[in-house]
Amino acid sequence: MEFSGKELVRGEPDASSFPSGGLRATFEARGYTAWDPTAYAFLKDDTLYIPTVFFSYSGEALDKKTPLLRSIDAVSRQAVRILRLFGDTKTRKVIANVGPEQEYFLVDKELYLKREDLRMCGRTLFGAKPPKGQELDDHYYGSIRPRVTAYMQDLDEELWKLGIYSKTKHNEVAPSQHEMAPVYCDCNTACDQNQLTMEIMKKVADRHGLVCLLHEKPFAGVNGSGKHNNWSLGTDTGENLFAPGKTPSQNAQFLLFLTAFIEGVDEYQELLRSTVAFAGNDHRLGAQEAPPAVISIYLGDELSDVIDSIIGETDYTDRKKGALRIGVDVLPTIPQDTTDRNRTSPLAFTGNKFEFRMLGSSQSISGPNIVLNTIMAEELKKYADALEGAQDFEAALHALIRDALRAHRRILFNGNGYEGSWLEEAKRRGLANLASTADALPAFILEKNIDLLSRHGVFSRSEMLARHEIHMENYSKVIKIEASTLIDIVQHTLLNAATAYTRDLCSAILQKKAALPGDTCRVESALAASVSRLGEDLLDRCAALKTALDTMPKTLDAEGEMHYCHDQLVPAMGKVRETIDHMETLVASSYWPVPTYCDLLFFCLKANAFRRNWLRLDCGRETLRGKHRNPRRYSSAGISLLCMCCQETLDGCNLHGSLLGRGSAVAFALGHAGVQTDRLVDIWRKQRREPLQLRQRQLFERAALLRTQVHQLPRNFVGVPEGHAFFG
Ligand code: ADP
Ligand code: MG
Repeated sequence: MEFSGKELVRGEPDASSFPSGGLRATFEARGYTAWDPTAYAFLKDDTLYIPTVFFSYSGEALDKKTPLLRSIDAVSRQAVRILRLFGDTKTRKVIANVGPEQEYFLVDKELYLKREDLRMCGRTLFGAKPPKGQELDDHYYGSIRPRVTAYMQDLDEELWKLGIYSKTKHNEVAPSQHEMAPVYCDCNTACDQNQLTMEIMKKVADRHGLVCLLHEKPFAGVNGSGKHNNWSLGTDTGENLFAPGKTPSQNAQFLLFLTAFIEGVDEYQELLRSTVAFAGNDHRLGAQEAPPAVISIYLGDELSDVIDSIIGETDYTDRKKGALRIGVDVLPTIPQDTTDRNRTSPLAFTGNKFEFRMLGSSQSISGPNIVLNTIMAEELKKYADALEGAQDFEAALHALIRDALRAHRRILFNGNGYEGSWLEEAKRRGLANLASTADALPAFILEKNIDLLSRHGVFSRSEMLARHEIHMENYSKVIKIEASTLIDIVQHTLLNAATAYTRDLCSAILQKKAALPGDTCRVESALAASVSRLGEDLLDRCAALKTALDTMPKTLDAEGEMHYCHDQLVPAMGKVRETIDHMETLVASSYWPVPTYCDLLFFCLKANAFRRNWLRLDCGRETLRGKHRNPRRYSSAGISLLCMCCQETLDGCNLHGSLLGRGSAVAFALGHAGVQTDRLVDIWRKQRREPLQLRQRQLFERAALLRTQVHQLPRNFVGVPEGHAFFG
């Protein structure tokens, strides 16, 4: 095979199976890739990956990387101009730095496979509230379950191998929800790495018999998942431009950058909002969940005091240092410990960076960062234009900051973003409240936004229109898939379950009446009547949803379809869900055909209910303790076992692991599972990883060793069901 260096630099794949948003016809389907030398190449699955940009035959960007690179350039150019005004002659480049915190849910794979909605849509379309959710606040600071710890360790290692410095990991608010944060880096690399991270998260989960859900709202009633985009600007000499300085001049520079950010966000709030608008995120933004759909900036009390004093030209009182006079050319010293204590704000200043919290967990971080970079470039350009020609720099600077803050103060809000009163207040302030994707997407192509992005060379008008079209189409497609999936589940499983349950209740009534003529059969009758009535409701509501789906007018354009989906299908799905959730609370567990929220969210405890054997026997996924460093090796050991005492996989169970030792733990559990030897052999055979003979022999040796060990264990520790025979 020949592979020339030229192919690294430029490739020519077919772009026809890529959404074009009307940018090109199929006969011009050619697309070009070009090496992005500013991003790291990497090895994955024994293949060399070269990060590239992707553009069309006619030169339009088809990817998210090209506009991102353009925005990185734009902000750097303007920021350097500002730095020069402050006497900085060294900085040649200003870098937008990003650290995205990634939230995710882990669910048991066996349970996941039983939920068509999770498989098709990535989220549950129904599910009654479990008896316990996140109300005890016991998950966030709770210890991480061993099974999850094993996953996180494995994930860290896989990420580190790719040069992604996964740093923080912890539980999140909702049960089974977790978070990972990498060490921040330049925005372009951060985007690439976040894409890889999401892929690796799913892959590693599979090895652990888990599924990683990146959907924004996999479960109603508990927190959804977002992605906190920590963003700042730094110089190539290592200075963070959002770090309050020590000298008056450094402070003035900091305040100028801060003001630019405030003005940019206020000016382009709708545009920023539109970058986080898609179907999955609608369940978070504007849906009584963090954060609200209204954009505002949280600065914290101390920094707000400074801003107030600048706006009002009053004395600023630093709590530690006493009053500071603010003259025409003096800006106050900024306290260094302005930390963030507000978790409800969509955009919070957190000491030396801004944390944009509206991103959905599944989305690419490039869109929001493109806009953050560009609005910053725009404001800095305006400021540089004004200040470069100023007679008296200090006076002009102070006036500029003061006037800009006066004009854009409305975007600052330190209060509780969850409260209904904030929405009223925001309305009074004239802030946009674009509650849904259908409301927010049109803002992307407002004339002023097209102007902004094309002026800075980030997007051309046609690139924006194409993207807009694609985003709207994507919304409608997602909603239609969800509606079809829901209809499918109702028709194929749920109605059936309701019928089976009522039928059995009715036969029970008949039998009981025959055997016990005086019996009222109240329990059976009440249940049968309720479930039967709910079944009828479900049928009607499902039919209404199907009609709405089938009768969507063919004449609608992309925007019309999006609104139709939002106005007709989403509420109709809500109605269906309402009935299903009610029904679930009445139908006996053994009749309910899918795992419940309780099963899914507290999977380590409940997973057994859905296993044929009470010990889990699964090929090639779980790790045996200490071996997970080498996936090939442990997968040949190939068994996943669930400990009966602590309900964790045996590799995670310290007690059993150390008591029995790794090798014997396998055989121990196998023996207790009562799994037939030939079934084991069958499993080994299926794996075909090592010669059968050897595996068989090892197994029997372990089993024999175990027989002695097991007999020495206290009965309750072993946890064998009464009468259960060893070794089949
Ligand atoms: P928290 O959950 O308290 O907000 P985390 O440690 O989970 O904090 O995440 C903070 C993220 O912000 C990390 O990815 C970190 O690397 C990133 N970060 C820290 N400083 C900066 C900075 N100056 N610019 C951009 N990102 C930053
Ligand atoms: Mg965090």
